[in-house]
Amino acid sequence: MTIAAPALPYANNALAPHISEETLNFHFGKHHMGYFKKLTAAIEANESLQGKSLEDLIASTSGGTFNNAAQVWNHSFYWNSMSPNGGGAPTGAIAAAINEAFGSFDNFKTQFGAAAAGQFGSGWAWLVKDAEGKLSITSTGNAETPLTEGLTPVLTCDVWEHAYYVDYRNDRGGYVQAWWNLVNWDFANSNL
Ligand code: MN
Repeated sequence: MTIAAPALPYANNALAPHISEETLNFHFGKHHMGYFKKLTAAIEANESLQGKSLEDLIASTSGGTFNNAAQVWNHSFYWNSMSPNGGGAPTGAIAAAINEAFGSFDNFKTQFGAAAAGQFGSGWAWLVKDAEGKLSITSTGNAETPLTEGLTPVLTCDVWEHAYYVDYRNDRGGYVQAWWNLVNWDFANSNL
């Protein structure tokens, strides 16, 4: 098994004006692909890593290999968490699940925004599902991912500065506000 090269599910300019083409050129083209190239090099150099899926590598490695594997997975999940046709209120099963877990979509937005704002330094805000199917919000630092906690990611927002500094400078809150205009509820439903 070889790890497939990441691909953006839309054009680099498709998320504008909320996230610019320049941001995606760097974030996908340099950062995400950079993690993939480093991971590929680590696999080529270490026979014990060969033949494993990305998820297996995340579960079984540490240090640089874990960081690059998790960042490859997290970024692919992040791109799919957004859509040029996204945003607005949740639809389908995720709408009912959010209301059940958080009381209302507005409460969910407030709590998710607080998790994104409150993640000190680089990391990720997540909507996750536990083994009982209950939704919750969590955040992780650096490359850490809820996959290693036995949780099922439903949506994520990348809050590394490279995700927003070109468009929003230091205003992480402004970036997260804009992210709501892109949320891919169809993808969230597919993860329930
Ligand atoms: Mn990123």
